[in-house]
Amino acid sequence: MKLRSIRCNRQSMIHFTNVSNRYANGYEALNNVSFEIKRGEMVFLTGHSGAGKSTVLKMIPLLERPSEGQIIIDERDLGRVKRRHIPALRRDIGIIFQDSKLLNDRNVFDNVALPLLLSGEHHPREVGRRVRAALDKVGLLAREHDSPVVLSGGERQRIGIARAVVNRPKVLIADEPTGNLDPELAQEVMRLFEQFQQVGVTVLIASHDLELISRLKKRILALRKGQLIADQGGGRS
Ligand code: ADP
Repeated sequence: MKLRSIRCNRQSMIHFTNVSNRYANGYEALNNVSFEIKRGEMVFLTGHSGAGKSTVLKMIPLLERPSEGQIIIDERDLGRVKRRHIPALRRDIGIIFQDSKLLNDRNVFDNVALPLLLSGEHHPREVGRRVRAALDKVGLLAREHDSPVVLSGGERQRIGIARAVVNRPKVLIADEPTGNLDPELAQEVMRLFEQFQQVGVTVLIASHDLELISRLKKRILALRKGQLIADQGGGRS
């Protein structure tokens, strides 16, 4: 397949061009998907289970590579990113999972500090400052010494968000972040994402909760069976 030539676009943060992905078992999870997300946009990716949402998200930090097509993240062509440069790419991308994936044998502070330590920041004063700033942003500074096991589902998810932003990423990607939360807590978590958008972070959230999404009046990309079937809204994104 011929690629459209891509001009380097400073406004663009995430740019998929004719991306297809076939898993090792031959299953085609994405078929010729193209979209562009500008810096500072907040966008939802929706579609039924199996539509390809997680596959799209996994490609952004290079957890998965496309079989065809081109992906540009923050002016970096992922097809050309060398293995040794993947950690730097990943530092710019905060990832939030449905079940928050906190480590229960470490307290809240140590969970949030983990990405900093992994990226080589070991200075205790700087780690403390950045972890507390992240906890403050999600309203949970007072819980830094607690074990994740004593937190509610909504609090765990907010700690997951603090951990994702502690490296001050340019992009946040979230895979069904409200999937385990009741509607009120889900709205609270969405408000947090909006706050990060307001300070310039680009946010891409996979969710099949259409009721919640439609209330937020953001741009929605809809996938069905691996194909992008709609790109709607965005007036307020
Ligand atoms: P969604 O996030 O929308 O539920 P996914 O991106 O997880 O969809 O999956 C899209 C399709 O790809 C599904 O049919 C799924 O079974 C398949 N799939 C996902 N991951 C793999 C994998 N590692 N190997 C083979 N097939 C996969």
